[in-house]
Amino acid sequence: KATVAIVGRPNVGKSTIFNRLVGERISIVEDIPGVTRDRIYSQAEWLNTNFNLIDTGGIEIGDEPLLMQMRQQAEIAIDEADVIIFIVNGKEGITAADEEVAKLLFKSNKPIILAVNKVDNPEMKHEIYEYYSLGFGEPFPISGAHGLGLGDLLDEVVKHFPTLEQDQDDEDTIYFSLIGRPNVGKSSLVNALLNEERVIVSDIEGTTRDAIDTKLHKDGQDYVIIDTAGMRKRGKVYESTEKYSVLRALRAIERSDVVLVLIDAETGIREQDKKIAGYAHDAGRGIVIVVNKWDTLETNDKTMKEYEEKIRAHFQFLDYAPIVFLSAKTKKRLHTLLPMVKIASENHAKRIPTNVLNDVIMDAIAMNPTPTVKGQRLKVLYATQVAVKPPAFVIFVNDPELMHFSYKRFLENKIRDAFGFEGTPIKILARKRS
Ligand code: GDP
Repeated sequence: KATVAIVGRPNVGKSTIFNRLVGERISIVEDIPGVTRDRIYSQAEWLNTNFNLIDTGGIEIGDEPLLMQMRQQAEIAIDEADVIIFIVNGKEGITAADEEVAKLLFKSNKPIILAVNKVDNPEMKHEIYEYYSLGFGEPFPISGAHGLGLGDLLDEVVKHFPTLEQDQDDEDTIYFSLIGRPNVGKSSLVNALLNEERVIVSDIEGTTRDAIDTKLHKDGQDYVIIDTAGMRKRGKVYESTEKYSVLRALRAIERSDVVLVLIDAETGIREQDKKIAGYAHDAGRGIVIVVNKWDTLETNDKTMKEYEEKIRAHFQFLDYAPIVFLSAKTKKRLHTLLPMVKIASENHAKRIPTNVLNDVIMDAIAMNPTPTVKGQRLKVLYATQVAVKPPAFVIFVNDPELMHFSYKRFLENKIRDAFGFEGTPIKILARKRS
């Protein structure tokens, strides 16, 4: 999937345009609110083409002077994006900061589309010619506030998307990434996995852009570890900012079948862990919770159980995620990890035949009859699986309003009991069918 970044001075209207382009993204059923995503990275769509959109203005880079910040935003865009939308303010003309950004963008080999924002009425359109001088060809007049000109702009953006060649996921390979606070042991765990016995490692050359993907083969299964923030430190200033590491994590999550959410056994669970785990949950990926640094605890036969209870209390929205306790340092219990990743991945992609699914649903209803709301009883007609990764089910009913949260939850549990979706979220949607 292509990535587009929006760059421009403060107040040129970047986030207004970001929000316009992203629009209202409707996720199929979200029962338990995870953590709302930072509004700097999202999916968007134009002419049936999906792409990722980054608002570089949302990545605050300390209290550096404006020019410095602009430079870093431009670098982030150049690092992360296939196409860059450079936004200037049509009411103010070209400023020194615009020229500075233009210079940087110019040096990259990325396609740059120049958008002149705040062109709110047609009379202003002839004033955009001065912007040719920035050297990016035809400027596109737009109005974020009024939603004008965005179609033409997107037509141009889409033209520059790389053609699909690489990046085609191999169906049998399990892609996974590791996320977690700094110092939870992400790099250590990657290294430990790569050095495990009977693991064959090969770098994948020329994979997506600048990401480092490593392929490993164990027990007849291919895996690819996707690089996340922290694994590849190039010493750029913005790499240490929180928003940027979140952005990197989101991008890795997006390409993953399974996400390992790392927790540090030594320091315990922190608020930030919950936020990070929320990203993976929101993205609908398979999830395995990994408690690392297990070697630092004095353990007895109850420690694991107690720790698990603590995790379950903190991460209620991840009740489907298995927990693996291990030490990247001593490699204790490390061998339990990949088999769990495999289980989560298989469940994430699992399809249930419609007849079997309906048998389970009808049995569930026989056991616990559907609720009645204001004298009207919920009637379930039939159910079918409509998607995988994650598995999503549509249940056709007489009136979706009658499908209570608690009854939906009950059906979800029955589906889980019957088919064992350990390690993956599942989605359930009620639709009207009379
Ligand atoms: P990252 O920032 O998440 O990539 O974390 P690192 O892999 O750089 O690890 C941070 C620190 O934790 C390093 O000093 C590691 O040696 C240490 N560490 C990582 N895994 C373990 C572990 O299983 N046990 C112990 N005791 N230390 C660990």
